[in-house]
Amino acid sequence: MLTRRLFCRCLPLAAVATFAATESQAQTSDCAVFTPERQKEITPDQAIALLKAGNQRFVDGKTINCDLMAQVKQTAGGQAPFAAIVGCMDSRVPPELVFDQRIGDIFSVRVAGNVINDDIVGSLEYATQVVGSRAIVVLGHSECGAVKGAIDDVHLGKLTGLLERIEPAVKAAADGQKHSSKDKRLVQTVAETNARMGIEDLLSQSSILKELTDKGELRIVAAMHDVATGQVNFLTPS
Ligand SMILES: [Zn+2]
Repeated sequence: MLTRRLFCRCLPLAAVATFAATESQAQTSDCAVFTPERQKEITPDQAIALLKAGNQRFVDGKTINCDLMAQVKQTAGGQAPFAAIVGCMDSRVPPELVFDQRIGDIFSVRVAGNVINDDIVGSLEYATQVVGSRAIVVLGHSECGAVKGAIDDVHLGKLTGLLERIEPAVKAAADGQKHSSKDKRLVQTVAETNARMGIEDLLSQSSILKELTDKGELRIVAAMHDVATGQVNFLTPS
C-alpha cells in the first residue's frame, strides 16, 4: 500500500519535473545567443534550416519571445551571427522579424532592391571570412519599388545609378519585349531574377566568398519574401 501510495504521489511529480526541465531547456536553447563555439558547430545547410524554421514560426504566429536586454548583455563582448541576409530596405521586409531572429543572430545588409555593390560585397566578406557566418541569403521580395523603378527606367538623382544594377535582371526577364511595372508577373520575375543574379555577382566579384563556398564552409542562396503572406520561399538553384 505504501509503495502504491508513493508511486501514485511520485509519478505525477516526476512527470512535472521532467516536463519543467524540458521546457526550461527549450527556452534556454531558443534564446541562447550565438557564440563562436555554437556558430562553428552548425553547417551551412543547418544555417539555412534555422532561417526556414524561423520564417515558419513567423508565418504561424509562433515567434519566440526572449529577454532581449539579456541578449544585449550576453553579446556585449562580441558577436558570432550564423547567417547574413542581403535584403531590400522595404519596411515590410525586416530580416530579423521575418526570420524570427534576435540580437546577435544574423547580419542584416540592406539596400533598395537588394543590389550588390563593392560595399555590400565587402560587408559580406567581413561577415563570413572574419566573423564566420555560415550562409548568405540574397532576399528579394514581391511588390519591390526598386524593381518597379528599374522596369520603368526611372531617373532620379543617385537612385538612377542604383536602379541600373537591376537592369540586367530586367533585360533577362523582359527578353527584349516592351515592359512596364504594371505587369505584376514581370515585377515578380525580375525580382526573382535579380535575387538569383545576386548570387552570381557575389561569387564573381569576391574570390573570398567563392573560396569559402568551394570549400563547403559557406552557402549562398536566393529567396523571395511575399509581402502579402510573410512567407519566404527559397529559390532552387537555376
Ligand atoms: Zn524592395
